[in-house]
Amino acid sequence: MQAHTGRISAQTQLLGILGHPVAHSLSPVIHNAALRHDGLDMVYLAFDVAPEQLDVAVQAVRTLHMRGVNVTVPHKETALRLMDDVDPLASRVGAINTIVNDQGRLLGHNTDVTGFTSAVDSVLPEGVGGLECLVVGAGGAARAVVAALVEHGAKRVRIYNRTPDRALALSLAACDWGQTTCETVSLEELPTAVRTADVLVNATPIGLAGGIKEPPFPVDKLHSSHVVVDLAYSLSTTTLVQTARGKGAVAIDGREMLIMQAVASYRLWTGLRAPIDVMRRSIDHGER
Ligand code: NAP
Repeated sequence: MQAHTGRISAQTQLLGILGHPVAHSLSPVIHNAALRHDGLDMVYLAFDVAPEQLDVAVQAVRTLHMRGVNVTVPHKETALRLMDDVDPLASRVGAINTIVNDQGRLLGHNTDVTGFTSAVDSVLPEGVGGLECLVVGAGGAARAVVAALVEHGAKRVRIYNRTPDRALALSLAACDWGQTTCETVSLEELPTAVRTADVLVNATPIGLAGGIKEPPFPVDKLHSSHVVVDLAYSLSTTTLVQTARGKGAVAIDGREMLIMQAVASYRLWTGLRAPIDVMRRSIDHGER
């Protein structure tokens, strides 16, 4: 790989993110800050790809000799089926967020799992082993969260979702992933499930910048022993995290997971340990 000269040339390698919509994504800010810092002759761009165009866009990763891409909502599950090979963890989750182009062979990975684990480790250094966890949401991100919680020995993972069938499908799949008890929670059971959990995870878009702000579960049941992980993020702290901290709980928003999944993707593409502090500062300062 050539060192970055500060300008784009015929040798510059392309990275990017495929999503729909994607204009809100902070990934270009994070990755370009790191690439600049490391002096790599690569750039990272965002591509808004409609679902019916995903196969063409993935083929373009090969055609344009891109080093790789991230994939985000709503493509994480469909993209997996377009890969030449898929990492076993991503295969279990049923979704990918990172594609590595290895000389025309596309390899799918899911760095959301390690991103979530690293984010939780930052507030719960002893890990989730033996703990009761409640996950709200049952989409691609929730699957990665549940896989990480099972992988790290959570005692029980309870899943609540607006559409109960999806929660049931995820809990049934997760029962085969390890020793953790996985089960669903109904709307009526949700307040008690919140109160009795050790770790609460919001894996819905509720709380994202510009979106719905009402909490995804009854926050009057929050207390100071809780650890709250909100996957949603904006440039300031989310309402859920503010509320949880106000009750004395330990809480982090989705920025830490965003950084840590980016660190893992960066390593897959460049082979380098990412400059985490540079990545963190890039979004803390709202660089564009
Ligand atoms: P997804 O596959 O589209 O799933 C969305 C989930 O949220 C589904 O369970 C959906 O329920 C639920 N949901 C959506 N709108 C809702 C509402 N108004 N009320 C209640 N539930 C609602 O999306 P995803 O990939 O799982 O991503 C979920 C969130 O996590 C997104 O906001 C994404 O930005 C965030 N995320 C953050 C990171 C990070 O690094 N911080 C990484 C990955 C994802 P139904 O099944 O009923 O539709």
